[in-house]
Amino acid sequence: MFGRAPKKSDNTKYYEILGVPKTAAPDELKKAYRKAAIKNHPDKGGDPEKFKELAQAYEVLSDPEKREIYDQYGEDALKEGMGGGGGGVDPFDIFSSFFGPSFGGGGGGSSRGRRQRRGEDVVHPLKASLEDLYNGTSKKLSLSRSVLCSKCKGKGSKSGASMRCPGCQGSGMKVTIRQLGPSMIQQMQQPCNECRGTGESINDKDRCPGCKGEKVLQEKKVLEVHVEKGMQHNQKITFPGEADEAPDTVTGDIVFVVQQKEHPKFKRKGDDLFYEHTISLTEALCGFQLVLTHLDNRQLLVKSNPGEVVKPDSFKAISDEGMPMYQRPFMKGKLYIHFTVDFPDSLAPDQCKALEAVLPPKPASKLTDMELDECEETTMHDVNNIEEEMRRKAAHAAQEAYDEDDEMPGGGGQRVQCAQQ
Ligand SMILES: [Zn+2]
Ligand SMILES: [Zn+2]
Repeated sequence: MFGRAPKKSDNTKYYEILGVPKTAAPDELKKAYRKAAIKNHPDKGGDPEKFKELAQAYEVLSDPEKREIYDQYGEDALKEGMGGGGGGVDPFDIFSSFFGPSFGGGGGGSSRGRRQRRGEDVVHPLKASLEDLYNGTSKKLSLSRSVLCSKCKGKGSKSGASMRCPGCQGSGMKVTIRQLGPSMIQQMQQPCNECRGTGESINDKDRCPGCKGEKVLQEKKVLEVHVEKGMQHNQKITFPGEADEAPDTVTGDIVFVVQQKEHPKFKRKGDDLFYEHTISLTEALCGFQLVLTHLDNRQLLVKSNPGEVVKPDSFKAISDEGMPMYQRPFMKGKLYIHFTVDFPDSLAPDQCKALEAVLPPKPASKLTDMELDECEETTMHDVNNIEEEMRRKAAHAAQEAYDEDDEMPGGGGQRVQCAQQ
């Protein structure tokens, strides 16, 4: 190797490390790095120093901007930050960006924890009343979570070392054979019970006293969850990286999912609110007044205009009295009021007379009394639920058609006869 101690304007060292001429094309550089990096990978018994040098050289020369700086001013210029990088390169990152994370990863040799697993997110439902979502609130929730033992930094041992588990030879899995009968055995693969599937074991003397080799400890944590004005049902509130910690794992998130509770008075549709109100017939005809307690306990006075008649099953809306919009709480949806009119079940004859005197007259009959006498009399009965009655009829008809099909083999002739009628 040449130029071990770089002079101020040494701009050949990187080329020498990769073993290429100064005029090498990007393809040539790539090939040279690939060959040398595989040969010198520490996981394959290579020299870590050499591996690092290769990565550094390749990192600079593969970047046209950095290569130009290097060619003109040498390594020191890069270290001074002109092109960034140089010193702080992670050779394993470069290597895996080249070959993918699978190469040389895993195994007992690499203790670097490259390409960590991502831990699972922990999802909790978060019940919120409509009042909570209208006014905003914060809730303190106490959760138990695993955290890496601070004494051993999640290694489980005082020295930081671990051995291959003797129970499973480091595979984390154990094959057990069970005799089911005289000539039957069952073979099962299960996570190793000695190392709980980790493939590692820790020497008794080396065991961390903080976590007894478990690597993690349970911790109570209180999270303050802010339910913001206008949040929707099923909206997520995320606490990044607050889920259970585990060795060599990127900690997942704690996610709260807002579950809006039913409200006895108000229904919500998006940013709008719906309120059911029943008025008497007299109120419908002669005016009504309602004091409505809103979700923030304000008392709203709602009343009809003089002379206005409120029809059954009609809606009225009040602007800006719906739900606040998420992250724009000064904007609000509408409050719709749905009116049901409670009609009297019956009226006495004198009540009818009094009403007829003030209400618009009935439509006059086009028939004479004589002609009416010739009409057939009918009686009406109440239909309480027309949908229910129709459903029952449809079910009955379907059952009859089914029964008829059943009789087909025997009663074929009869059926033909029917069709001919
Ligand atoms: Zn084991
Ligand atoms: Zn520990």
